[in-house]
Amino acid sequence: MSTVEPVAAGSRLPGSVTVGSATVGSATVGAGPLHLAALDLDKTLIFSARSLLLPIPVAPAEGSSAAVSSAEDSLASAAGAAGAAVVVREVERYNGAPQSYATARELELLAELDRVAVVVPVTTRTLAQYRRVDLGIRPRYAIAANGGHLLVDGEPDPAWAATVAADLTGCAPPATMLGLAERFAAGWARTVRAADDLFVYVVAHDRLDIPDLAALTVQVEAGGWSVSQQGRKVYLVPTALTKQRAVDEVRRRTGTRVQLAAGDSVLDIPMLLAADAAVRPAHGELHELAWTAPHVTITADAGGRAGEQLLSALLAQVRADGRWDGGAVVPA
Ligand SMILES: [Mg+2]
Repeated sequence: MSTVEPVAAGSRLPGSVTVGSATVGSATVGAGPLHLAALDLDKTLIFSARSLLLPIPVAPAEGSSAAVSSAEDSLASAAGAAGAAVVVREVERYNGAPQSYATARELELLAELDRVAVVVPVTTRTLAQYRRVDLGIRPRYAIAANGGHLLVDGEPDPAWAATVAADLTGCAPPATMLGLAERFAAGWARTVRAADDLFVYVVAHDRLDIPDLAALTVQVEAGGWSVSQQGRKVYLVPTALTKQRAVDEVRRRTGTRVQLAAGDSVLDIPMLLAADAAVRPAHGELHELAWTAPHVTITADAGGRAGEQLLSALLAQVRADGRWDGGAVVPA
């Protein structure tokens, strides 16, 4: 079995934080969880069949009575790389077909983390794309469209939408960037879309079809936007639209004092840098760039195993700090 490097090795956890009256370990905690865990979804917690790097469930035959997703249908037990049984669950279905997976162990760890910290799913997915994903938890807060939507109990927060609209007045409008993207994508791309009227993305048939991004990047940056490539997708995103700005808002609303984070892409960097301790998987855009920071650890494995390892590492961090547990503080 593989292991993950301990997050604590490079942790920037503050030696003393003042949140309430009870002091545990090096931290002081109040009425709610001390930790907020900001978790990217794609290629961090959930995986396509290609990026999971584990045997996936065999889809039921089209039209068979078992074709409708059920917990049992979406389970598969297979021998993992290390020889241990790995149970893989379907966590997203699109157009009648399984779209994303997570391991059962990941979902268990996520549920455990959700009990001791404020877990915030943080994704660049549009609202509709986010809503297809079922992680088995019901987080009070979630962030979609790269910070463009702050969901409270599953619904977009209008006050946050107004804040974002004001923030984006200094950046070029999405229609301008959509025009740039359409010209860039001519002849090779499968899809060019404006997402929730907030950002733009291009999807290639194959990542090898994507031309050099240098010239596009210059044009995009002139409009106050940035470019990020994740596999077959190229994202054009206003620089003022970051996941971390929305995470800051959730921190403000929840009073959490310690930020944990996990993510695999350039769009996750502000969130990883703002965290007191963070983990990234040993795959994806940041891994290809060999990106790291002193308080960011890297999982031992890639794929779905990395998802398990990063959640284990974040849970270990919560336990090491001392955690809030339904009103009582549990010492490390
Ligand atoms: Mg990702």
